[in-house]
Amino acid sequence: MAHIVVLGAGTGGMPAAYELRETLDPQHRITVINAVDYFQFVPSNPWVAVGWRERTSITFPIRPYLERKGIAFIAQAVQTIDASANRLYLADGTPVDYDYLVITTGPALAFDEVPGSGPQGHTQSICSIDHAESAYRAYQQLLENPGPVIIGAMPGASCFGPAYEFAFILNNDLKKRKLRHKVPITFVTSEPYIGHLGLAGVGDSKTVLESALRQHDIRWITNARTESVEPGVMHVAEVDDLGAVRKQHALPFHYSMMLPAFRGVAAVAAVEGLCNPRGFVLIDEFQRSRTYRNIFSAGVCIAIPPIEPTPVATGAPKTGYMIETMVAAIVRNIAADLAGEPATARGSWNAICLADMGNTGAAFVALPQIPPRNVNWFRQGKWVHLAKVAFERYFMHKMKAGTSEPIFEKYVLKSLGIEKLEQS
Ligand code: FAD
Repeated sequence: MAHIVVLGAGTGGMPAAYELRETLDPQHRITVINAVDYFQFVPSNPWVAVGWRERTSITFPIRPYLERKGIAFIAQAVQTIDASANRLYLADGTPVDYDYLVITTGPALAFDEVPGSGPQGHTQSICSIDHAESAYRAYQQLLENPGPVIIGAMPGASCFGPAYEFAFILNNDLKKRKLRHKVPITFVTSEPYIGHLGLAGVGDSKTVLESALRQHDIRWITNARTESVEPGVMHVAEVDDLGAVRKQHALPFHYSMMLPAFRGVAAVAAVEGLCNPRGFVLIDEFQRSRTYRNIFSAGVCIAIPPIEPTPVATGAPKTGYMIETMVAAIVRNIAADLAGEPATARGSWNAICLADMGNTGAAFVALPQIPPRNVNWFRQGKWVHLAKVAFERYFMHKMKAGTSEPIFEKYVLKSLGIEKLEQS
């Protein structure tokens, strides 16, 4: 009998636990450990930050749903991992032994790399539900005292879609309130051009997003190295293609939401030989640690190289569906390992993303993630907004019901030629 511990109950960890339970013999124990006792649907945070969603509609308590499926749950942060002893320690010091460890701890937010940034400083974030709620409170102040807004992504960021999404949503909300004319918006991004998205662009993303920003009177600064933030002023160096500073900006703002660079969480980053220098888990093509053969990892916490070098550092995004393909491979590989067979499943790592823009939206599909691609399109339309709302409901239901691959994946994605596992 094996004990499989899933560390982190987010977009990667929850499906991993359900799929493991569905796939493995019931004699094997599965335990999920998560720093907090609730699940949060991260992609809806931009809506929370403008008051279009409440905390209760995008979070739920984890324990009853996992326990109903025979999965144990511990609501505590893991403090240390002793990988050579197959043991980890919870925040209260309790040890937990495992035979297999699935690490899905998501990102640590590197606000400290830009002094004055982040919710402890002078900019807002939508990376967690707590941050999104605090961003909403700050938004109330902006509504009372309208003025310039800065939205974007800082050096080293890898998650750009939500920054665009938030700029368009905020624009839409301000228009509804008839306040947009009092709020100049600037999009400040480390990307070399609008629509790069950490993916060297997807289809027509540059043209479509530039056009959408222009249509909505949102100015932009690309190749932007945000250097520091003080109350009401952001200091940004705009660099050229060779990385030399071509213009230094001191941008005034009443409200700002800047996505940070990510790194790995401390407990994982500290494990000898497990991670790269930024604390992301080094894995092989089968999602398996290169050092510890009983550790697998998926999601934002794994190390993947940037798609291409850029004048200001950018990373490659790890999007929800891509994460699910990693999870599917891990489940197959642990099942194979338990059966004494080689672990050879590979996630397809296909990047699919729906970005809401208020009443319309933009969707992209990049298959594979690294160009040249077999499928490479970026489209805009009202259907994306509707699809995003439907996807939120579907994913929340899926995470409560514990079904691992129902209708959406089976029919919609297959019709797009998208498979979870790489066909070799
Ligand atoms: P998370 O979902 O962040 O889960 C990590 C979990 O690990 C958390 O529950 C955390 O509490 C737990 N944890 C961390 N450290 C510890 C510890 N030491 N001990 C115990 N537990 C720990 N992708 C899309 O495809 N579509 C989108 O629309 C989209 N929107 C996004 C919007 C935002 C604002 C952001 C930030 C990302 C978005 N993404 C989107 C990207 C990606 O899908 C999400 O970031 C996704 O939540 C990542 O899943 P994950 O499982 O890797 O990490």
